[in-house]
Amino acid sequence: MKLPDPFFPVMIAFFAARRLMPSPSPSALALLLSVLAAAPAGAAPSADALATVAERSGFQRTGRYEEVQALCDAFQARWPDAVRCQDFGRTPQGRPMKVLVVSRSGALDPQAAHAAGLPVLLVQGGIHAGEIDGKDAGFLALRELLSGKAGKGLLEKQVLVFVPVFNVDGHERFGAWNRPNQRGPEQMGWRVTAQGYNLNRDYMKADAPEMQAMLRLVQAWDPVAAIDLHVTDGAKFRHDVAIQVEPAYAGDAELRVAGRGFRDAVIADLRKRGSDPLPYYPSFVVNDDPASGIADGVSTPRFSTGYFLQRNRFGMLVETHSWRDYPTRVAITHDTVLAVMRQVAAHGSDWLRLQHAADARAAQLAGQAVTLEYKASAVERIVDFHGYHYTRTPSDVSGTLMTRYDESQPETWHMRLFDDVQPKVTAVAPLAGYLVPAEYAASVGALLALHGVEFRVLPAAQAATGAWRADEATPEGKSNEGHQRLKAKGSWRPEARTLGAGALYVPVAQAKSRLLMGLLEPDAPDSLLGWGEFNNAFEQKEYMEPYVAEEVAREQLARDPALAKEFAERLRSDAAFAADPQARLDFFYRRHSAWDERYRLYPVLRTDVEPPR
Ligand SMILES: [Zn+2]
Repeated sequence: MKLPDPFFPVMIAFFAARRLMPSPSPSALALLLSVLAAAPAGAAPSADALATVAERSGFQRTGRYEEVQALCDAFQARWPDAVRCQDFGRTPQGRPMKVLVVSRSGALDPQAAHAAGLPVLLVQGGIHAGEIDGKDAGFLALRELLSGKAGKGLLEKQVLVFVPVFNVDGHERFGAWNRPNQRGPEQMGWRVTAQGYNLNRDYMKADAPEMQAMLRLVQAWDPVAAIDLHVTDGAKFRHDVAIQVEPAYAGDAELRVAGRGFRDAVIADLRKRGSDPLPYYPSFVVNDDPASGIADGVSTPRFSTGYFLQRNRFGMLVETHSWRDYPTRVAITHDTVLAVMRQVAAHGSDWLRLQHAADARAAQLAGQAVTLEYKASAVERIVDFHGYHYTRTPSDVSGTLMTRYDESQPETWHMRLFDDVQPKVTAVAPLAGYLVPAEYAASVGALLALHGVEFRVLPAAQAATGAWRADEATPEGKSNEGHQRLKAKGSWRPEARTLGAGALYVPVAQAKSRLLMGLLEPDAPDSLLGWGEFNNAFEQKEYMEPYVAEEVAREQLARDPALAKEFAERLRSDAAFAADPQARLDFFYRRHSAWDERYRLYPVLRTDVEPPR
C-alpha cells in the first residue's frame, strides 16, 4: 500500500513502538489507525492546523508551547460556538497560561454554567511538564469531540475546562533526558517551574504564581471533578495506568461512595479498551523492592488529589506508566479523558447535588473530630500484580542490592497490598472558628481568599478561648519547596487571650471547613505552621545572661521554699537536667516576668464563641 508522504513517520513510529512495547496496547493501535484513517487524499488545511506535532510525528515528539497558543486560537476559530480560548494567568517568565473552555451547551462562562446547573470538568496536563501526555491526548480528544468523531452528546451535558499545560515555563525547559525513566517523547519539559516550585506540592501554600492563577480558575469554575494527568516514576511492570479518586477513603462520607463509583467506572471503561489499570499508585513500600508491597493511601492536600476533597469535589490522579512508549501513553490518556467525560455526562447532575449536600454538612463540623491525614494500617492482603520476572542481586556499581527487570518475561507477582486506610491525624473543630491576629491578617487573609475561604475582619478587640502551644518545635534540617518546615508537638489549651482590632475571624460554619482546618490546624500535614510560615513564633528571641539568671535563681530560691523543693527534686530525679547548666538556669528564667510568654505560642487562636458582627 502506498501511503501519502506525511504518514510515513506514523508508520515508522508504529513499528518502532511495537519493538519497544512488550505487549502492544490495543489502544495505541486504535489511535494510530485512527490517525491513518483520518488522512484524506488531499489533507484539508484546517485539519492540518488542528493536528499536533505529536500526531504528525506518530507520537514520537511533542510540540513547544507556541503550538498550544496557536491551537488554542485555532480551535476557537474553527468552533466559535463551542470553544473559548482564554488566558488565566501569566508565568514568572512572562508566558500566557492558556485554557480552553469547551461546551456545546451554550454556557461558556462560569456564571452561565452554574445558572444552567451544568457540571464543569477541569482537565489539566503538564503540572509536571516532562509528563506531557495530557496535552497531546487532550487536544486529540477535543478535536474528536468537536468534530463529532467521538463522544457524541458529551459536550452538550458539561463544560470542559482544559488546561493543556499547567507548568508552562517548565514545559519550555525542553530537553532529551528530562525524564530518564520514561519512554518518549524525544524531548520534553522539566518537572518544576522556572522558580523551582513543584506545583503538585503547592495546592495549599500556593507560593507559585501559576498555582495562584490555577486556584482563581478553580474558584471561578468550581469544577465537580479535577483531572490531573501525569506519568509515573518507578519500577517496571505491565500495568499501564493508575487511576485514583478522592473522596474515596477521605473527606465527606457520602461523597466517598460516589468517588469510588467514579473511579471504578473509569477503570472498567479503560479495561474494556485494552488497558490494564490499577486503582492505587504503584510505588513500593521499600524503594526498588517489589517484595515489600504497595501501600495505598490519601495524598495530603499539597497534592491535587488531596486538595479537591477539602473542597468537597472530586480529584482524580491519572498516572500512565512511564515505561510504556509515548503513543501508548497518549492513547490511554485520551481514553481516560473520554471515559471521565462519559461519567460526568451520566452522573454530573447527581454529583452537583451530592457535593452541595456535602458543602452543607461541612458547614456543620463545629465541635466534631475531623481527620487531617490518613495512613494505611499494617493489615495487608495479597493481590495479583502484572509484573515481569526480576532478580535482586548485589551490584558492583552501587555496592548494594539492585533490582533488574526482564521485560521479555511477564510474571504475576503476588503483591502485598496495604489498603486498609485509617485516620492518622485528627483534630476537633472549634465550636465557632479561628482568629488570625492583625499582624498576619494580610498574608493569611490573601491566601484564604485565594482558596475561597470566607472570613471577616474584626473592627474591635476580640477575646479568644483557646491557644495552641508547642512543647517541642524543631525546624527540619532540609529545605522543602524553599521552606524550612517545622515539626512541632503541642496542643490546644483553654487560654484567655485578647486580639486587637483588625484580626480575622474564620468561621468553621462554611462549606470549606475542611480546607480552612487544613491550613490553620497546626497538626494538619500542609498547615501554614507545618510549612514554616510561623517559624518566628518558635524561635527564642530574648535571653537572660547566665550571670543575671544566677542572681534571679538565688532570689527565687530564697523567696519561695516550695520552688526550692521542686528544684531539688528535679535535680534528684532528672539526670539530664542536672547535667545541663542552661536547663538549670532556664528553670528560673521561665518563672521570671522577663520570660517571653509568647515563645512557642501559635499566633492563630481559636474561639468557641462567634464574635459580634
Ligand atoms: Zn507527575
